[in-house]
Amino acid sequence: MSDSREQAGNSTAVDGRKVNKRLDAAAYQKLYKASVSDNEGFWGEQADRIDWIKPFTTVKDVSFARKDLHIRWYEDGELNVCVNCVDRHLKTRSGQAAIIWEGDNPDQQRTISYSELYEEVCRLANAMEARGITKGDRVILYMPMVPQAAFAMLACARIGAVHSVVFGGFSANALADRIVDCQARMVITADGSHRGGKTIPLKPNVDEALKIAEQQPEGHQVRTVLVSKVSGDSVDWLDHDLWYDEFVPTHEAVHEAVPVNAEDPLFILYTSGSTGKPKGLQHSSGGYLVYTATTFSYTFNYQPGEVFWCAADVGWVTGHSYIVYGPLANGATTLMYEGVPTYPNLGRCGEVIDKHKVNIFYIAPTAIRTLMTDQKRAIGSSQRDSLRILGSVGEPINPGVWQWFHDEFGKGQCQVVDTWWQTETGGIMMTPLPYVVEPKPGAAMTPFFGIQPQLVDKRSDILEGKADGHLVILDSWPGQARTIWNNHERFIDTYFSTHDGMYFTGDGAKRDEDGHFWITGRVDDVLNVSGHRLGTAEVESAVVSHPKVAEAAVVGFPHELKGEAIYVYVIPNDGVVPDEQLTKELRDWVRKGLGPVASPDMIQWTHGLPKTRSGKIMRRILRKIAANEHETLGDTSTLADPQVVDELIDNRLNR
Ligand code: ATP
Ligand code: MG
Repeated sequence: MSDSREQAGNSTAVDGRKVNKRLDAAAYQKLYKASVSDNEGFWGEQADRIDWIKPFTTVKDVSFARKDLHIRWYEDGELNVCVNCVDRHLKTRSGQAAIIWEGDNPDQQRTISYSELYEEVCRLANAMEARGITKGDRVILYMPMVPQAAFAMLACARIGAVHSVVFGGFSANALADRIVDCQARMVITADGSHRGGKTIPLKPNVDEALKIAEQQPEGHQVRTVLVSKVSGDSVDWLDHDLWYDEFVPTHEAVHEAVPVNAEDPLFILYTSGSTGKPKGLQHSSGGYLVYTATTFSYTFNYQPGEVFWCAADVGWVTGHSYIVYGPLANGATTLMYEGVPTYPNLGRCGEVIDKHKVNIFYIAPTAIRTLMTDQKRAIGSSQRDSLRILGSVGEPINPGVWQWFHDEFGKGQCQVVDTWWQTETGGIMMTPLPYVVEPKPGAAMTPFFGIQPQLVDKRSDILEGKADGHLVILDSWPGQARTIWNNHERFIDTYFSTHDGMYFTGDGAKRDEDGHFWITGRVDDVLNVSGHRLGTAEVESAVVSHPKVAEAAVVGFPHELKGEAIYVYVIPNDGVVPDEQLTKELRDWVRKGLGPVASPDMIQWTHGLPKTRSGKIMRRILRKIAANEHETLGDTSTLADPQVVDELIDNRLNR
């Protein structure tokens, strides 16, 4: 498998840019086949991307069988993740920017070179050890999007502590649940954060969360709260509090990293958990790093010296894998943005791209759809000529949105990669590799090397050829979550019980006649209209392809004859005033596009949709409103803007 590690390929001109083509379509096919048939060989070779303190002797020890579920990669190897992301680059790129930080306020920025990153992380690692944090301890990070968030992740990795980043927008209650569940010994936070020109308190939520945690039967173990000064707001001060900016600089800027086993946990990350307690997915050190390093390099075709911008929050897995670990393991320059894509106006993303000459830009469809509400504003104030690759993640990208992203935002000069993956998978699982696989707008297309996706029906029978079913993965990959913290049973129940011997993603997908995959949405959201199964993605894409529509969410509601009928929530474009005529036009539009079975029964116009804090539509809530059952909405704690729900209930159509 000699060509599986990146090789300096031919320099070719694509989209008018010079790019280093590593593979062509035929080579991809060949390498993909080899990566599956000799899976251990492939991942054994990819593991050379990182430095091992003690080399591993076995690559893989995995069973997906329910009774004997275990997932281990490189299990007798030892490494340090931080050394791989920082120290080993000092020889060749100590002066290169590791992190470019762009403030919420467009006048604020900071560039951190690899040597500065080393010093910052070492001081913090020493400071944490001085507070008694050692290998295996859990540390909660409740941080704004500031460089200290990355320093803290890397410092934990350096001393072998396990970080759990809690999104800064979560409430004290959500924070308390996580502090208790992982029995954290330390919290690293800030006084407050800047987002969209406002300051949002963080430290007061930590104080409250610790009070809540104290009252729970398990109590909490937090002995230190390290507080970075970001917003400048005054805060209450307690015995266990320490100012980051005073305490950390008193420690030495060198630190001897602690070797960890490949299977030792690097972090725990809680998924929002649509029902019940959030799941603390536990990721490994060795396998996770190999996987994020490999997927980053291939998916974004990263070339030395380029600037990579992933516009996610470090509170999500995307921020872990593609702001911090993947880019830094590759010695890349990663841009970290403090604010929201729409502040001070819709042109901000393009302006940041011009200012820092961003080459690769990775963002969620929800943000692209927001830019599209006023296209002139969104792209009028920037050139964006540095861009080479555009990535999408988090939800299915509607074909029309893909096209705009490619044609207008990327000026037809960029490769677009739609990347499908999950918190549970650690890294990208499906994507059309740039310059290699010809993309189809809206399709995640092809599996990454070593990944074996398959479609099955309810009875777990494998569907061949063109098909529509549950998306499962047949064999493990190094970046896969190993368990749910403290709850292995739940891990097995959630992911390995629906389809025996397979990892069940919870998503549905279609495979087209060319063998390419299209994610149709979560299987819980699938509509069944008169016996026809419709994915939410398909119907929503048809609705948003109407020129007057900005965004849409589709759910089913009970119907006597059809079983389920279609209810559509629609946000019009800026300046459009919806009326009955437009409603009719939109219904005809969808019927024409998808056929009569997909014709919406109810169309409710709205100013907003209920979204999670990471920008995903919460269809669970919309289903309740559509069914006129809004009295029992369930858990709404992860909702970004609760007011939206009140408006939707007030104007509901099914009464
Ligand atoms: P929870 O599991 O707590 O409900 P979540 O699933 O939204 O939260 P993530 O792990 O961040 O949390 O998101 C993974 C899910 O996002 C996938 O299972 C899929 O439904 C969706 N998704 C991510 N990327 C894509 C993509 N490129 N195309 C289609 N869907 C995607
Ligand atoms: Mg999920």
